[in-house]
Amino acid sequence: MPGFEVFGAEERKHVNDVLESGILMRYGFDPMRNGHYKAQEFETQFAQKMGSDYCQLVSSGTAALTVALATAGIGAGDEVIMPTFTFVASFESIMAIGAVPVLVDIDDTLTLDPKAVEAAITSKTRCVMPVHMCGSMANLDALKAICDSNDLILLEDACQAVGGSYKGVMLGAYGDLGCFSFDFVKTITCGEGGGVITNNEQYAKRADQFQDHGHDHVGSDRGAEGHPFLGYNYRISELHAAVGLGQLEKFDQIINRQKEHYSIMREALSQVDGVNFRTVPEGGVENYSFLSFYMPTQQLAQEGHQKLGEAEVDACFYWYSNSWHYINGWEHLKNAKAMGGLNESIKAQLSTLANKDFSKSDHWMGRNISCLVKVGWTDDQVKERAATMQRVLQTQVNS
Ligand SMILES: *Cc1c(COP(=O)(O)O)cnc(C)c1O
Repeated sequence: MPGFEVFGAEERKHVNDVLESGILMRYGFDPMRNGHYKAQEFETQFAQKMGSDYCQLVSSGTAALTVALATAGIGAGDEVIMPTFTFVASFESIMAIGAVPVLVDIDDTLTLDPKAVEAAITSKTRCVMPVHMCGSMANLDALKAICDSNDLILLEDACQAVGGSYKGVMLGAYGDLGCFSFDFVKTITCGEGGGVITNNEQYAKRADQFQDHGHDHVGSDRGAEGHPFLGYNYRISELHAAVGLGQLEKFDQIINRQKEHYSIMREALSQVDGVNFRTVPEGGVENYSFLSFYMPTQQLAQEGHQKLGEAEVDACFYWYSNSWHYINGWEHLKNAKAMGGLNESIKAQLSTLANKDFSKSDHWMGRNISCLVKVGWTDDQVKERAATMQRVLQTQVNS
Protein backbone atom coordinates (compact mmCIF):
# COMPACT_ATOMS: atom_id res chain seq x y z
CA MET A 1 0.00 0.00 0.00
CA PRO A 2 2.59 2.65 0.89
CA GLY A 3 3.44 5.13 -1.84
CA PHE A 4 6.39 6.29 0.27
CA GLU A 5 8.25 3.21 -0.96
CA VAL A 6 8.62 4.85 -4.37
CA PHE A 7 9.59 8.45 -3.49
CA GLY A 8 11.94 9.89 -6.09
CA ALA A 9 12.67 12.63 -8.61
CA GLU A 10 8.96 13.35 -9.27
CA GLU A 11 8.19 14.37 -5.69
CA ARG A 12 11.45 16.33 -5.38
CA LYS A 13 10.71 18.34 -8.51
CA HIS A 14 7.27 19.45 -7.38
CA VAL A 15 8.49 20.26 -3.84
CA ASN A 16 11.39 22.28 -5.26
CA ASP A 17 8.99 24.27 -7.46
CA VAL A 18 7.22 25.34 -4.28
CA LEU A 19 10.36 26.04 -2.27
CA GLU A 20 11.85 28.11 -5.10
CA SER A 21 8.84 30.40 -5.16
CA GLY A 22 8.65 30.37 -1.36
CA ILE A 23 4.84 30.37 -1.37
CA LEU A 24 3.83 27.48 0.83
CA MET A 25 0.16 28.43 1.01
CA ARG A 26 -2.37 27.44 -1.64
CA TYR A 27 -4.22 30.76 -1.71
CA GLY A 28 -3.10 34.27 -2.62
CA PHE A 29 0.39 35.68 -3.40
CA ASP A 30 -0.31 35.27 -7.14
CA PRO A 31 2.55 37.44 -8.49
CA MET A 32 5.14 35.49 -6.45
CA ARG A 33 4.05 31.92 -7.24
CA ASN A 34 5.94 31.38 -10.52
CA GLY A 35 2.67 30.01 -11.82
CA HIS A 36 2.62 27.10 -9.35
CA TYR A 37 -0.72 26.05 -7.86
CA LYS A 38 0.09 22.55 -6.64
CA ALA A 39 -3.07 21.96 -4.58
CA GLN A 40 -5.28 23.10 -7.46
CA GLU A 41 -3.35 21.00 -9.93
CA PHE A 42 -3.69 17.92 -7.73
CA GLU A 43 -7.44 18.49 -7.43
CA THR A 44 -7.89 18.71 -11.20
CA GLN A 45 -5.80 15.62 -11.91
CA PHE A 46 -7.26 13.54 -9.09
CA ALA A 47 -10.89 14.39 -9.93
CA GLN A 48 -10.17 13.33 -13.50
CA LYS A 49 -8.58 10.05 -12.38
CA MET A 50 -11.57 9.29 -10.18
CA GLY A 51 -14.05 10.23 -12.92
CA SER A 52 -15.56 12.79 -10.59
CA ASP A 53 -16.56 16.39 -11.28
CA TYR A 54 -14.92 17.95 -8.21
CA CYS A 55 -12.12 17.30 -5.75
CA GLN A 56 -11.29 19.27 -2.60
CA LEU A 57 -7.86 18.62 -1.16
CA VAL A 58 -7.58 19.01 2.64
CA SER A 59 -5.09 18.38 5.46
CA SER A 60 -5.96 14.73 6.26
CA GLY A 61 -8.38 11.90 5.60
CA THR A 62 -10.04 12.65 8.92
CA ALA A 63 -10.46 16.26 7.82
CA ALA A 64 -11.89 15.03 4.49
CA LEU A 65 -14.58 13.04 6.33
CA THR A 66 -15.36 16.00 8.59
CA VAL A 67 -15.58 18.40 5.65
CA ALA A 68 -17.74 15.96 3.64
CA LEU A 69 -20.21 15.54 6.51
CA ALA A 70 -20.41 19.30 7.13
CA THR A 71 -20.79 19.93 3.41
CA ALA A 72 -23.81 17.63 3.23
CA GLY A 73 -25.48 19.68 5.96
CA ILE A 74 -25.09 17.06 8.69
CA GLY A 75 -24.77 18.45 12.21
CA ALA A 76 -25.89 18.38 15.83
CA GLY A 77 -27.91 15.30 16.79
CA ASP A 78 -27.95 13.76 13.31
CA GLU A 79 -27.16 10.05 13.23
CA VAL A 80 -24.49 8.63 10.93
CA ILE A 81 -24.32 4.85 10.45
CA MET A 82 -20.77 3.46 10.39
CA PRO A 83 -19.16 -0.01 10.66
CA THR A 84 -17.53 -1.72 13.68
CA PHE A 85 -14.39 -2.40 11.58
CA THR A 86 -12.83 0.85 10.41
CA PHE A 87 -10.33 3.42 11.65
CA VAL A 88 -11.05 5.72 14.60
CA ALA A 89 -11.35 8.64 12.13
CA SER A 90 -14.91 7.48 11.32
CA PHE A 91 -16.36 8.32 14.73
CA GLU A 92 -13.91 11.19 15.29
CA SER A 93 -15.15 13.05 12.21
CA ILE A 94 -18.81 12.37 12.99
CA MET A 95 -18.48 13.64 16.58
CA ALA A 96 -16.38 16.62 15.47
CA ILE A 97 -19.46 18.18 13.87
CA GLY A 98 -21.74 17.25 16.78
CA ALA A 99 -23.35 14.29 14.98
CA VAL A 100 -23.91 10.86 16.52
CA PRO A 101 -21.98 7.75 15.40
CA VAL A 102 -24.19 4.65 15.21
CA LEU A 103 -22.05 1.52 14.95
CA VAL A 104 -23.38 -1.53 13.11
CA ASP A 105 -22.11 -4.96 12.06
CA ILE A 106 -19.96 -5.88 9.09
CA ASP A 107 -20.40 -8.98 6.93
CA ASP A 108 -18.10 -11.28 4.91
CA THR A 109 -17.02 -8.30 2.78
CA LEU A 110 -15.37 -6.90 5.97
CA THR A 111 -17.48 -3.77 5.39
CA LEU A 112 -21.00 -2.56 6.30
CA ASP A 113 -23.70 -5.24 6.28
CA PRO A 114 -26.67 -3.72 4.39
CA LYS A 115 -29.13 -5.64 6.60
CA ALA A 116 -27.54 -4.19 9.75
CA VAL A 117 -27.70 -0.72 8.21
CA GLU A 118 -31.40 -1.06 7.46
CA ALA A 119 -32.12 -2.21 11.01
CA ALA A 120 -30.29 0.79 12.51
CA ILE A 121 -32.22 3.51 10.67
CA THR A 122 -34.20 5.89 12.90
CA SER A 123 -35.95 9.21 12.29
CA LYS A 124 -32.62 10.92 13.10
CA THR A 125 -30.50 9.02 10.57
CA ARG A 126 -29.01 11.31 7.89
CA CYS A 127 -26.07 9.46 6.43
CA VAL A 128 -24.61 6.00 5.78
CA MET A 129 -20.82 5.82 5.80
CA PRO A 130 -19.39 2.59 4.33
CA VAL A 131 -15.65 2.18 4.86
CA HIS A 132 -13.88 0.26 2.09
CA MET A 133 -11.34 -1.35 4.40
CA CYS A 134 -8.13 -2.93 3.19
CA GLY A 135 -8.63 -2.24 -0.50
CA SER A 136 -12.07 -3.74 -1.11
CA MET A 137 -15.58 -2.38 -1.03
CA ALA A 138 -19.01 -2.56 0.51
CA ASN A 139 -22.03 -3.71 -1.48
CA LEU A 140 -22.70 -0.24 -2.83
CA ASP A 141 -25.81 -1.07 -4.88
CA ALA A 142 -27.54 -2.43 -1.78
CA LEU A 143 -26.48 0.56 0.34
CA LYS A 144 -27.54 3.04 -2.32
CA ALA A 145 -30.99 1.44 -2.55
CA ILE A 146 -31.35 1.81 1.23
CA CYS A 147 -30.16 5.43 1.11
CA ASP A 148 -32.48 6.29 -1.80
CA SER A 149 -35.57 4.86 -0.17
CA ASN A 150 -34.83 6.56 3.17
CA ASP A 151 -33.54 9.87 1.79
CA LEU A 152 -30.05 9.41 3.27
CA ILE A 153 -26.64 10.57 2.13
CA LEU A 154 -24.17 7.90 1.00
CA LEU A 155 -20.64 8.92 2.01
CA GLU A 156 -17.85 6.51 1.02
CA ASP A 157 -14.69 6.32 3.10
CA ALA A 158 -12.29 5.14 0.40
CA CYS A 159 -9.17 6.07 2.39
CA GLN A 160 -7.77 2.53 2.06
CA ALA A 161 -9.16 1.73 -1.37
CA VAL A 162 -8.04 4.46 -3.76
CA GLY A 163 -7.81 2.97 -7.26
CA GLY A 164 -10.38 0.23 -6.67
CA SER A 165 -13.70 0.30 -8.51
CA TYR A 166 -17.28 -0.95 -8.37
CA LYS A 167 -19.26 -1.70 -11.52
CA GLY A 168 -16.93 0.51 -13.53
CA VAL A 169 -17.05 3.46 -11.11
CA MET A 170 -13.99 4.38 -9.05
CA LEU A 171 -14.47 3.83 -5.31
CA GLY A 172 -15.36 7.15 -3.71
CA ALA A 173 -17.13 8.36 -6.86
CA TYR A 174 -20.20 6.15 -6.45
CA GLY A 175 -21.78 7.81 -3.41
CA ASP A 176 -22.92 11.42 -2.90
CA LEU A 177 -19.45 12.13 -1.53
CA GLY A 178 -16.23 10.13 -1.30
CA CYS A 179 -13.21 10.61 0.98
CA PHE A 180 -9.54 9.69 0.67
CA SER A 181 -6.49 9.86 2.90
CA PHE A 182 -3.03 10.73 1.64
CA ASP A 183 -1.34 10.19 4.99
CA PHE A 184 2.14 8.70 5.14
CA VAL A 185 1.16 5.01 4.92
CA LYS A 186 -1.53 5.19 2.24
CA THR A 187 -1.36 4.00 -1.40
CA ILE A 188 -0.45 7.51 -2.52
CA THR A 189 0.76 10.00 0.07
CA CYS A 190 1.20 13.75 0.51
CA GLY A 191 2.97 13.13 3.85
CA GLU A 192 -0.30 14.26 5.39
CA GLY A 193 -3.39 15.02 3.35
CA GLY A 194 -6.88 14.01 2.32
CA GLY A 195 -9.44 14.58 -0.40
CA VAL A 196 -13.19 14.83 -0.90
CA ILE A 197 -14.75 14.07 -4.29
CA THR A 198 -18.30 14.68 -5.46
CA ASN A 199 -20.38 15.35 -8.57
CA ASN A 200 -22.63 17.71 -6.62
CA GLU A 201 -21.77 21.34 -7.39
CA GLN A 202 -23.26 22.68 -4.17
CA TYR A 203 -21.36 20.16 -2.02
CA ALA A 204 -18.17 21.07 -3.89
CA LYS A 205 -18.68 24.77 -3.29
CA ARG A 206 -19.41 24.25 0.39
CA ALA A 207 -16.41 21.95 0.83
CA ASP A 208 -14.21 24.68 -0.66
CA GLN A 209 -15.66 27.17 1.82
CA PHE A 210 -15.80 24.99 4.93
CA GLN A 211 -12.15 23.89 4.76
CA ASP A 212 -10.99 27.52 4.67
CA HIS A 213 -12.87 29.27 7.51
CA GLY A 214 -15.96 29.81 5.34
CA HIS A 215 -14.14 31.98 2.76
CA ASP A 216 -16.24 32.31 -0.40
CA HIS A 217 -13.07 32.63 -2.56
CA VAL A 218 -14.67 35.35 -4.68
CA GLY A 219 -12.40 38.12 -5.96
CA SER A 220 -8.65 38.52 -5.59
CA ASP A 221 -8.39 40.15 -2.16
CA ARG A 222 -8.47 37.39 0.42
CA GLY A 223 -9.04 39.84 3.26
CA ALA A 224 -12.15 41.23 1.59
CA GLU A 225 -13.80 37.87 0.82
CA GLY A 226 -17.25 37.05 2.15
CA HIS A 227 -18.02 34.24 4.59
CA PRO A 228 -21.49 32.85 3.90
CA PHE A 229 -21.08 29.98 6.40
CA LEU A 230 -19.10 29.15 9.50
CA GLY A 231 -16.10 27.04 8.61
CA TYR A 232 -12.81 25.77 9.98
CA ASN A 233 -9.22 25.40 8.86
CA TYR A 234 -8.60 22.05 7.18
CA ARG A 235 -6.38 23.48 4.40
CA ILE A 236 -3.50 21.53 2.90
CA SER A 237 -0.17 23.27 2.31
CA GLU A 238 1.42 23.60 -1.13
CA LEU A 239 4.37 21.49 0.04
CA HIS A 240 2.14 18.55 0.88
CA ALA A 241 0.15 18.91 -2.33
CA ALA A 242 3.45 18.95 -4.25
CA VAL A 243 4.45 15.56 -2.81
CA GLY A 244 1.03 14.24 -3.82
CA LEU A 245 1.45 15.45 -7.41
CA GLY A 246 4.67 13.45 -7.65
CA GLN A 247 2.83 10.39 -6.37
CA LEU A 248 -0.02 10.82 -8.83
CA GLU A 249 2.45 10.36 -11.68
CA LYS A 250 3.13 6.85 -10.32
CA PHE A 251 -0.41 5.97 -9.31
CA ASP A 252 -1.17 3.40 -12.03
CA GLN A 253 2.24 1.83 -11.62
CA ILE A 254 1.68 1.42 -7.86
CA ILE A 255 -1.74 -0.23 -8.33
CA ASN A 256 -0.33 -2.57 -11.02
CA ARG A 257 2.54 -3.65 -8.76
CA GLN A 258 0.12 -4.28 -5.91
CA LYS A 259 -2.03 -6.43 -8.19
CA GLU A 260 0.96 -8.53 -9.28
CA HIS A 261 2.11 -9.12 -5.71
CA TYR A 262 -1.41 -9.76 -4.41
CA SER A 263 -2.07 -12.33 -7.15
CA ILE A 264 1.06 -14.34 -6.33
CA MET A 265 0.17 -14.47 -2.63
CA ARG A 266 -3.48 -15.26 -3.32
CA GLU A 267 -2.59 -18.16 -5.61
CA ALA A 268 -0.37 -19.66 -2.88
CA LEU A 269 -2.96 -19.27 -0.11
CA SER A 270 -5.73 -20.72 -2.26
CA GLN A 271 -3.84 -24.05 -1.92
CA VAL A 272 -4.29 -24.06 1.87
CA ASP A 273 -7.20 -26.25 3.06
CA GLY A 274 -9.97 -24.30 4.73
CA VAL A 275 -8.64 -20.81 3.86
CA ASN A 276 -11.27 -18.57 2.21
CA PHE A 277 -10.87 -15.06 0.89
CA ARG A 278 -12.95 -12.06 1.84
CA THR A 279 -16.02 -11.61 -0.34
CA VAL A 280 -15.72 -8.91 -2.99
CA PRO A 281 -19.18 -7.69 -4.12
CA GLU A 282 -20.11 -8.58 -7.69
CA GLY A 283 -18.68 -6.01 -10.09
CA GLY A 284 -16.00 -4.93 -7.62
CA VAL A 285 -12.28 -4.58 -8.38
CA GLU A 286 -9.95 -4.26 -5.39
CA ASN A 287 -7.01 -1.86 -5.26
CA TYR A 288 -4.94 -4.83 -4.04
CA SER A 289 -3.46 -2.97 -1.07
CA PHE A 290 -4.13 -5.94 1.25
CA LEU A 291 -4.79 -9.65 0.87
CA SER A 292 -7.49 -10.52 3.43
CA PHE A 293 -8.58 -14.07 4.19
CA TYR A 294 -10.44 -16.18 6.72
CA MET A 295 -9.03 -19.12 8.67
CA PRO A 296 -11.40 -21.98 9.56
CA THR A 297 -11.64 -20.93 13.24
CA GLN A 298 -10.80 -17.97 15.44
CA GLN A 299 -8.13 -19.93 17.25
CA LEU A 300 -6.44 -20.93 13.99
CA ALA A 301 -6.50 -17.29 12.86
CA GLN A 302 -4.98 -16.04 16.11
CA GLU A 303 -2.28 -18.72 16.16
CA GLY A 304 -1.73 -18.55 12.40
CA HIS A 305 -1.09 -14.83 12.66
CA GLN A 306 1.42 -15.43 15.43
CA LYS A 307 3.18 -18.16 13.42
CA LEU A 308 3.44 -15.87 10.39
CA GLY A 309 5.21 -13.33 12.59
CA GLU A 310 7.58 -15.99 13.92
CA ALA A 311 8.39 -16.97 10.32
CA GLU A 312 9.28 -13.32 9.67
CA VAL A 313 6.36 -12.67 7.34
CA ASP A 314 5.89 -9.04 8.39
CA ALA A 315 2.94 -6.67 7.90
CA CYS A 316 0.19 -9.25 8.49
CA PHE A 317 -2.54 -8.04 10.84
CA TYR A 318 -5.00 -9.72 13.16
CA TRP A 319 -7.37 -6.75 13.48
CA TYR A 320 -9.69 -8.51 15.93
CA SER A 321 -7.44 -7.60 18.82
CA ASN A 322 -5.84 -4.51 17.26
CA SER A 323 -6.65 -1.34 19.16
CA TRP A 324 -7.06 1.09 16.25
CA HIS A 325 -9.35 -0.68 13.82
CA TYR A 326 -11.98 -2.74 15.61
CA ILE A 327 -14.52 -1.91 18.27
CA ASN A 328 -12.88 -4.42 20.67
CA GLY A 329 -10.10 -1.92 21.23
CA TRP A 330 -12.16 1.26 21.57
CA GLU A 331 -12.53 1.53 25.35
CA HIS A 332 -12.13 5.32 25.05
CA LEU A 333 -15.19 5.43 22.79
CA LYS A 334 -17.32 3.04 24.86
CA ASN A 335 -16.48 5.04 28.00
CA ALA A 336 -17.00 8.41 26.23
CA LYS A 337 -13.56 9.58 27.35
CA ALA A 338 -13.63 13.08 25.89
CA MET A 339 -11.26 15.65 27.40
CA GLY A 340 -14.21 17.98 27.90
CA GLY A 341 -17.97 17.56 27.75
CA LEU A 342 -19.88 15.75 25.01
CA ASN A 343 -23.37 16.63 23.85
CA GLU A 344 -26.21 14.55 25.34
CA SER A 345 -27.21 12.75 22.13
CA ILE A 346 -23.65 11.52 21.60
CA LYS A 347 -23.32 10.44 25.24
CA ALA A 348 -26.62 8.56 25.11
CA GLN A 349 -25.57 6.66 21.96
CA LEU A 350 -22.08 5.80 23.23
CA SER A 351 -23.51 4.43 26.47
CA THR A 352 -25.32 1.73 24.45
CA LEU A 353 -22.10 0.37 22.92
CA ALA A 354 -20.85 -1.75 25.81
CA ASN A 355 -23.92 -4.03 25.75
CA LYS A 356 -24.58 -4.17 22.02
CA ASP A 357 -24.36 -7.54 20.32
CA PHE A 358 -21.64 -7.42 17.67
CA SER A 359 -21.25 -11.20 17.42
CA LYS A 360 -21.81 -11.08 13.64
CA SER A 361 -18.79 -8.77 13.28
CA ASP A 362 -16.82 -10.95 15.72
CA HIS A 363 -17.59 -13.99 13.56
CA TRP A 364 -15.75 -12.48 10.56
CA MET A 365 -13.13 -10.42 12.38
CA GLY A 366 -12.14 -13.27 14.67
CA ARG A 367 -11.18 -15.47 11.70
CA ASN A 368 -9.63 -12.76 9.53
CA ILE A 369 -5.96 -12.16 8.79
CA SER A 370 -5.04 -9.22 6.49
CA CYS A 371 -1.61 -8.93 4.89
CA LEU A 372 -0.31 -5.66 3.53
CA VAL A 373 0.88 -5.71 -0.08
CA LYS A 374 4.06 -3.70 -0.55
CA VAL A 375 5.19 -2.11 -3.79
CA GLY A 376 8.94 -2.42 -3.28
CA TRP A 377 9.24 -6.21 -3.03
CA THR A 378 11.22 -7.95 -5.76
CA ASP A 379 9.53 -10.85 -7.63
CA ASP A 380 11.71 -13.34 -5.74
CA GLN A 381 10.80 -11.78 -2.41
CA VAL A 382 7.07 -12.06 -3.13
CA LYS A 383 7.39 -15.67 -4.28
CA GLU A 384 9.40 -16.64 -1.21
CA ARG A 385 6.94 -14.83 1.03
CA ALA A 386 3.96 -16.53 -0.62
CA ALA A 387 5.56 -19.97 -0.22
CA THR A 388 6.33 -19.31 3.46
CA MET A 389 2.77 -18.14 4.12
CA GLN A 390 1.35 -21.21 2.43
CA ARG A 391 3.60 -23.57 4.41
CA VAL A 392 3.02 -21.87 7.79
CA LEU A 393 -0.76 -21.69 7.43
CA GLN A 394 -1.12 -25.25 6.06
CA THR A 395 0.90 -26.55 9.04
CA GLN A 396 -1.37 -24.54 11.32
CA VAL A 397 -4.56 -25.91 9.78
CA ASN A 398 -3.20 -29.48 10.03
CA SER A 399 -2.26 -29.10 13.71
C1 LIG B 1 -6.17 6.51 7.17
C2 LIG B 1 -7.64 6.44 7.29
C3 LIG B 1 -8.43 7.53 7.65
C4 LIG B 1 -7.88 8.83 8.12
O1 LIG B 1 -6.92 9.39 7.39
P1 LIG B 1 -5.81 10.37 8.02
O2 LIG B 1 -5.26 11.02 6.81
O3 LIG B 1 -4.79 9.51 8.72
O4 LIG B 1 -6.50 11.31 8.93
C5 LIG B 1 -9.82 7.38 7.64
N1 LIG B 1 -10.39 6.22 7.34
C6 LIG B 1 -9.67 5.13 7.01
C7 LIG B 1 -10.36 3.87 6.65
C8 LIG B 1 -8.28 5.20 7.01
O5 LIG B 1 -7.56 4.10 6.73
